[in-house]
Amino acid sequence: MAEQSFKYVILGGGVAAGYAAREFGKQGVKPGELAIISKEAVAPYERPALSKAYLFPEGTARLPGFHTCVGSGGERLLPEWYTEKGVSLILSTEIVKADLASKTLTSASGETFKYQILIIATGATVLKLTDFGVQGADSKNILYLREIDDADKLVEAIKAKKGGKALVVGGGYIGLELSAALKINNYDVSMVYPEPWCMPRLFTADIASFYEGYYENKGISIIKGTVAVGFESNDNGEVKEVKLKDGRVLEADIVIVGVGARPLTGLFKGQVEEEKGGIKTDAFFKTSVPDVYAVGDVATFPMKIYNDVRRVEHVDHARKSAEQAVKAIFAGGLGESIDEYEYLPFFYSRAFDLSWQFYGDNVGDSVIFGDNNPTSATHKFGSYWIKDGKVVGVFLESGTPEENKAIAKVAKVQPPASSLEQLAKEGLTFASRI
Ligand code: FAD
Repeated sequence: MAEQSFKYVILGGGVAAGYAAREFGKQGVKPGELAIISKEAVAPYERPALSKAYLFPEGTARLPGFHTCVGSGGERLLPEWYTEKGVSLILSTEIVKADLASKTLTSASGETFKYQILIIATGATVLKLTDFGVQGADSKNILYLREIDDADKLVEAIKAKKGGKALVVGGGYIGLELSAALKINNYDVSMVYPEPWCMPRLFTADIASFYEGYYENKGISIIKGTVAVGFESNDNGEVKEVKLKDGRVLEADIVIVGVGARPLTGLFKGQVEEEKGGIKTDAFFKTSVPDVYAVGDVATFPMKIYNDVRRVEHVDHARKSAEQAVKAIFAGGLGESIDEYEYLPFFYSRAFDLSWQFYGDNVGDSVIFGDNNPTSATHKFGSYWIKDGKVVGVFLESGTPEENKAIAKVAKVQPPASSLEQLAKEGLTFASRI
């Protein structure tokens, strides 16, 4: 089998790979030096589009419209860009073995790739109900969403069962975005999740009550505090009924599951230090193995602002960590150094005509401000989190660009706050003063 050799290899062809490629271009990578190896069949794209406009019946997003780096307002790297730069895009190629000692990667079809410097950007994979042994979970039309192939299957199923009944399993942002997309496609949608409210890892009960109310007003039925424990299928093997733990049985033509993801670190087990479920890196995304970097969803990195190490599964970090690693590689080559990664956590989601942003840390006490009545016309509201007398996190629904900038600044500066009551009263005025 043929062996190919590159100065730099990015393993994975997702968001981080696309932003790393752009940075390699900026830093003056030479033709033939860089390869991106990806299991997917397409050049890097903005993954968040898959649960949003990709599924809409109108104004549908399709490639090449959302290749990286358009998601952050940057240049769109079409496949031709890679050709022009002499970057090898090795697509539809799954790496099944990584030997960090001999700097060799091996694909499922037996090709080998040598590198001098490796960037691990394998992202995460979805948790499946079959992993938990849920009865009937392998029925047809029980679907997941991570990659564009999954999204295409979803689009096909949505068309095939037009106007049918859909059950969304999971109340995280994927569940909330997919429920909205199905509703927009005229499905009769139910959501089920075990927690007392949606997005419990970020939302407080007050924040969640707005979204749950809003979804219910859109006709989405929300079933909380229970889980799907079994599925019945029809003669074609397609799902038709879902059994819930509380004894209820729901009809469903499509089931979409969004119950979390697991970072893809398996290829490197025992070869590299891990922490908190990810590959441990320093502030330049260097791992414990020389010449090996890890970025995006797989990296556990120093979160300087909180004096902690964390792994983050969000697109903003995927983009920024990739750029940081490539800058560090080139600076290292020149015997120079760059500043440490200073990351302020930033998450966002969009569904229906809603759009929220969150900056900082959701720890300590929280207070809601603004109008979180789900039936109000403006639905502009937010929440502050205070710890040790300082504001450490801010959430805002329907903010303008200026307001979102203001809340980001609050989370970064961490201004003192006299009381929760005062913050509730001042609302966004507090943020605009910082
Ligand atoms: P990925 O983008 O997942 O890329 C990993 C790549 O590696 C893939 O191409 C994969 O095929 C490839 N790969 C893995 N293993 C191998 C192998 N062995 N061989 C070859 N290739 C391999 N975040 C937000 O902040 N806001 C959002 O609104 C939002 N929406 C999202 C919607 C969806 C549907 C999903 C799935 C995620 C969303 N995210 C969102 C999260 C965000 O997309 C991820 O954090 C980001 O994509 C991580 O980038 P990454 O490059 O680390 O991983």
